[in-house]
Formats: sequence, C-alpha cells, structure tokens
Amino acid sequence: MTDAPPPIREIRINPIVPTESVLVATARGMRPREAEERVARDTRNQVDTCPFCRGNEARTPPSLRTYPEVGPWDIRIVENLYPVLGDDRPQSNLAFGLQQVIDGYGRHEVVIDHPHHGISVHEMSPGHLAQLFRLVQTRMGELYAADPRLSYVLLFKNFGRAAGASIAHTHSQLIAMPVVPENLHNELHHSRAYFLRHSQCVFCSLIDEALTFEATIYDRQSGAVRRRIDVGQYLVERGERFVAIKPFASRFEWEVHILPLEHQADFLQTPSEALADFAAVLKRTMARLDWVIGGAQYNYFLHSQPRSNAFWDHATSFHWHLEICPRTSIPTGFELGSGLFVSTLSPEDAAARLRAVMLD
Ligand SMILES: [Zn+2]
Ligand SMILES: [Zn+2]
Ligand SMILES: [Zn+2]
Repeated sequence: MTDAPPPIREIRINPIVPTESVLVATARGMRPREAEERVARDTRNQVDTCPFCRGNEARTPPSLRTYPEVGPWDIRIVENLYPVLGDDRPQSNLAFGLQQVIDGYGRHEVVIDHPHHGISVHEMSPGHLAQLFRLVQTRMGELYAADPRLSYVLLFKNFGRAAGASIAHTHSQLIAMPVVPENLHNELHHSRAYFLRHSQCVFCSLIDEALTFEATIYDRQSGAVRRRIDVGQYLVERGERFVAIKPFASRFEWEVHILPLEHQADFLQTPSEALADFAAVLKRTMARLDWVIGGAQYNYFLHSQPRSNAFWDHATSFHWHLEICPRTSIPTGFELGSGLFVSTLSPEDAAARLRAVMLD
C-alpha cells in the first residue's frame, strides 16, 4: 500500500445520468454525516407468529408461484396484503419505498425469498439465489404478458426499517406499474443519448473502464505524482459473466452495482444458466458488504429495459443491472435541499475496502 491519498474535494457527475452529481469530500475534519441506526439482526429460522414462515401459509393470500412446485416450498410469491397498487382500484398520488409518486393501477406482490425467517442474502446458497432470480424472471414475464398497460415491473428489496421493510422475514417485492420509475427513465433517456453520440453503451464503457482503467495524475508545476489510479479500482467482485462495481459517482457511500459483462438490456432475456453466475456474484458482494458495514439497512432494485413499446429501441443503449444501496447515513438538509449528495468516503476507498475482505 502507498501513503494515504491526498484528500479529495470534487463534484462528480454521474456518467449515466449527468443531471445527478455527488460531492466527494474526504478532507479530514469534514463532518461525518449522522449514521443510520444499525438493525439488530433477527437470526431465528422459524417464528410461529410470522405469516411468511413455513407452516403459516394460511395467513397470507394463496401462492401465485412457488419453488419447488410440489413439496415444502423454498420460495413463494404471494399477493401483497397491503398493496400500493391494485388492478381493481385506481389510486392516485402514491409514494412507496423508492420515493416514486405513481398514479393508477398495477399489481403489488411479495416474494418470500427463503423459508428461514432471519437469513441474510449472503447466507443463502448460490443455488437458492439463482432459483430466486429465475422465479422472479418467470413472474415478471407473466405480469408483463397479463396486462399490456403495464410499463414496468420493478423488483426491489428493503432490508431494515429505515429502508422501508415492515416485516422482518426476508422478502422482496414486485410492483407492476403503468409508468417507468423516474430514476430508470432518466437512465434510459441519457444512455440513449450517449449511444447516439458514441455508438456504444455507456454501461459497457464503464465496465471496460472499471476493468482496465489506469492513470497517473502529475502535479502541473513540479511534475511529482499527485495521484495514481490503480487498475480495476472500481471493481468489487468479478464472476465469469457478471461484475460488481462501485460507481465512480455514487449517491450512497457503499452503493454497488451488479451488471452482466456481456451487453444485455433486458433481464428477462438473461439465460437461466447465467443467473447462476449472477447469484454467485451477488452472494459474494453481499458478504463483502456485510463484513464491512454489517447490519446496515439497504435497498436493492433491478433496472431493466421496460417491455412496453415506447422503449423497444433501447436494446442497444441500455444495460440491465442490480443497484445495491446501503443506507449508512441520514441525508443532511443540504443534500435534501440541493439534490447534491455528499460522500465523505471516496468511492475508490470504499471499493478497496470491499475488495480487501477475505472470503473463502
Ligand atoms: Zn418468518
Ligand atoms: Zn452494455
Ligand atoms: Zn439503474
């Protein structure tokens, strides 16, 4: 290791959505933001009063999908008892976990990720995780096929109360909605603009950069080395077909994105066998995060090319990905007021600390 890098104080523009930016200010004495409360993890396997535990199936709506289809279930998808959207009753001006305001109809379902009540994602077997994402893929396809008015099916997971989870049992959610969420819409729009200028996918460019980038910044006067940027400095985890990278301009200090190495816009087009590698990369990434910021609350959500006709021509410019956003600090008034996120830890340091975790 070389000496600690000089403090950074710079505004970084999100390369995918240039209207978003983050102030990276690592100077000593920068007041750290207030920390989110860490959640004491409920590690019990079985809780008699929990509606999502095995044996309590009668306490949820009937299964829409289960894996396996016969015998004791490992994964179940059921209707959400308290939907933010229902296809029977249009509602307006709703806010849900990801701060989107949506209007209208849709479907809201719960994916019970695992029969064990308090298991963490990194503790699930790679085989189980692969099956989980295969089942989600199947269900998303069914939802899109069932109603052509639906523009997007969003998969997301909330872990911990600040991240919006109301039931402790490990679960994620599917929301089929008539609009494309705004943050995804921005990515679709800007990545298309990038493609029209550069004839390549901005996500593919970022992956190439994360895998090969190397630079040395010299002092203009003295010629001394001011900063040396290492190869693969944004890389967190690499599988055969997927990669986990720390975005260069991320909103959250420990935000990590997982993307297919080969260009693919639509998650639903990802072959079943590739999801095994996705699961392995997800498990290892979550294990690294758990080691460094264990107990932190987090959200993850899947961004994929929407199925609706309005987005058919985004296949070459968009690249599906899973965004993992741990909540380790509470946004300050400055951040909320300016829309400029502040990071007192540089993305380069965060990636290095995640890479340094020894996994077996
Ligand atoms: Zn439970
Ligand atoms: Zn791409
Ligand atoms: Zn995204």
